[in-house]
Amino acid sequence: MLARHCLVLLVMWLGATPALAEHYFVRNQNEYAHALKQIEAGDIIILANGEWRDFELVITGKGEPERPITVISEEPGKVFLTGQSSLRIGGEHILVTGLVFKDGYSPRGEVISFRRSKQDQARNSRVSEIVIDNFSKPDRYESDYWVGIYGKNNRFDHNHLVGKTNKGVTLAVRLDSEESRENEHRIDHNYFGPRPVLGSNGGETLRIGTSRYSMHRSDTLVENNVFDRTDGEVEIISSKSGGNIFRGNVFLKSRGTLTLRHGDDNVVERNVFLGGGKDYTGGIRVINRNQTVRSNYMEGLRGQAFSSALAIMNGVPNSPVNRYVEVEHARVENNTIVDSRRVAFNVGADEERSAPPSNSIFKGNLLSGLPGETLVESYDDISGIEFAGNRVVLGGVQTALSDKFTAASTEFERAANGLLYPSDPELGSTGAPRDLKPVSLDQVGVKWYSKPGDEVAFGSSGKVVDVAPGEDTLVEAAMAAASGDVLLLGPGEYIANRAIPLGKALTIRGAYEEGAEPPTIYFTRPTLIELRDGGDLQIANITIDGALAPDSVGNSAIRTTTYPIKSNMRIEMDGVTVRGLVVNKSFNVLTLGKSALADRVSIRNSNFVDITGAVVSAAAETEDFGQYNVEYLDIVDSKFANVGGPIADVYRGGRDESTFGPNISFSGNQIASVGLAATNGSGASIHLHGVQIAKIERNQIVGSAPFRVVHTVGTPKTSINDNQFADTPTFVLEELNYEGDHRAELSGNIFAGDGSE
Ligand code: CA
Repeated sequence: MLARHCLVLLVMWLGATPALAEHYFVRNQNEYAHALKQIEAGDIIILANGEWRDFELVITGKGEPERPITVISEEPGKVFLTGQSSLRIGGEHILVTGLVFKDGYSPRGEVISFRRSKQDQARNSRVSEIVIDNFSKPDRYESDYWVGIYGKNNRFDHNHLVGKTNKGVTLAVRLDSEESRENEHRIDHNYFGPRPVLGSNGGETLRIGTSRYSMHRSDTLVENNVFDRTDGEVEIISSKSGGNIFRGNVFLKSRGTLTLRHGDDNVVERNVFLGGGKDYTGGIRVINRNQTVRSNYMEGLRGQAFSSALAIMNGVPNSPVNRYVEVEHARVENNTIVDSRRVAFNVGADEERSAPPSNSIFKGNLLSGLPGETLVESYDDISGIEFAGNRVVLGGVQTALSDKFTAASTEFERAANGLLYPSDPELGSTGAPRDLKPVSLDQVGVKWYSKPGDEVAFGSSGKVVDVAPGEDTLVEAAMAAASGDVLLLGPGEYIANRAIPLGKALTIRGAYEEGAEPPTIYFTRPTLIELRDGGDLQIANITIDGALAPDSVGNSAIRTTTYPIKSNMRIEMDGVTVRGLVVNKSFNVLTLGKSALADRVSIRNSNFVDITGAVVSAAAETEDFGQYNVEYLDIVDSKFANVGGPIADVYRGGRDESTFGPNISFSGNQIASVGLAATNGSGASIHLHGVQIAKIERNQIVGSAPFRVVHTVGTPKTSINDNQFADTPTFVLEELNYEGDHRAELSGNIFAGDGSE
């Protein structure tokens, strides 16, 4: 819309004063370069509709306040920069609008940069109504920014940024030069769409500054943006500078928090966080001095610790600039928190982070938690915080803090703005103000590019293809299928003479017949299914048999490709039997390789018999950078017999605290003779290293290797309850960065035979 208006206005204006401005319509990069040489204030370059491949677009010059230099698409959303493309802006009073970046990635460190070079940083310039859609570098761990804002007084507004899958901040404001500090940039009305879990540090959606320059003011305004499912890591926004204002932003089902990580004097006000009950959804995390957090609204948040609705952290005494400066003179006022898990004080308290908040105020907040859970917790001294006029409506309040909060009993009513307010008029001045107006999806981004819906679900195409038994019938059907299709296998034997490359959401299901043998799949290559970019796999009611597989290094029935995979994958097995993976000494069922991350691996009601390797190997990220291969792993109600390697081998090494996972659920399984192979380096039947949440419950284990759980950083939660062990050694539990006994919760476990708890 803006692009159209702008063009029309400029053309009208040009008509009135033709001598002062030029209007260049360009069809290719040569014509663009020619126009650029002549450009002056008030001029406009119009890019012809169509694809501009490998276009490193540069614009610089001296525009004037009412006469910017403009680069605009012929029609908004009809100019596509693809392949190896980027945009760099120098000079002053430049406007760029109407472009779409897709089907490629930047060859540089940024897709859009508000500087042409170190010497030529943009000032008073604007990027508006630009789309960056999945324009990610192919290698997950090769870093870039999609947008780098430098210089001063720039505006980035009404843009649409969706699907960054590689490492690096989506939008970074840089303070690494004198002329880019106290910049008064405006970042407003943008749509920050889904950013999948990165599985590493570097998945922030917005960062302002870095620890190195965090003593400087940035004075950036971040206003009326929507953050929709921005799940990259623990920080959605990482404010690492002073004087920033975060106002009126809406966070939808986004994991992590708005974090005041470094720098002082920031204001966070009138933002709305709607978690929708999703795991790890958080609010605001406070560190440093003179931070103001007021009039925010939070609902349906499920995070705790670092991702609590409000997390007030402990600091490091005389902290180095890159650690945790003490909270001092914080004001946290008139926030509403409903249907949320946690409000936490002294978060991160440990030997290093030993300084509690001081000279701070927590006032007029309205809090309501989850039934039966402790809403407010503190982990150290809170005497440096003055509490006044806070009301707690539901949920237990920790005893130590009950004198700080007054109970209230009220119903909540949803107001016209979509938010909940207490019915009790006595609470009228407690919590967030009535006049909040959360920005809506149609007020952010662009009108001419649709916002993403839910991910493609298994079976969502509605197409079911019958596949007959035989050689390569399954391979051919799988390669011809579209995303969301179901392949239905009748009874009989299927042989795959090549690995099935899977780059879509595919279901392979046995036609269910009561009492009949399920269809059986054999494969004559080292792998049956190779997961590629875009691949999601659901298999049900079938048998996979390794009898025809060759003896080859790294055999695995299902494995990820060695080509880069940008997307996160889902793998589900229900009613599946896998047997006879014995042709060599380490034949796995599922192997997740380097730079691959599964959002979820789910195994239910399945059988695994005679397997020499691991059932799920998610242990390829061995550099201890805090990277890992699986976010959620559920193994439920399944049977494992004569499996040489571990059932689950999950590794996340290092001391980084930027991710939430891995998260493991292992319950109701029957295990016999598992983990005993000499080739099993872990020596365990389940090996979890650096897993953040593990629930291991109600399993029966006979004659197997022990469970091995290694805790690394953070506050890992492991519970091992109500399991029955026979002839199996007791748990091997290790803490790598924590003094004292292992923190696993153990109860109701019974050992018989040679084992003992
Ligand atoms: Ca981070």
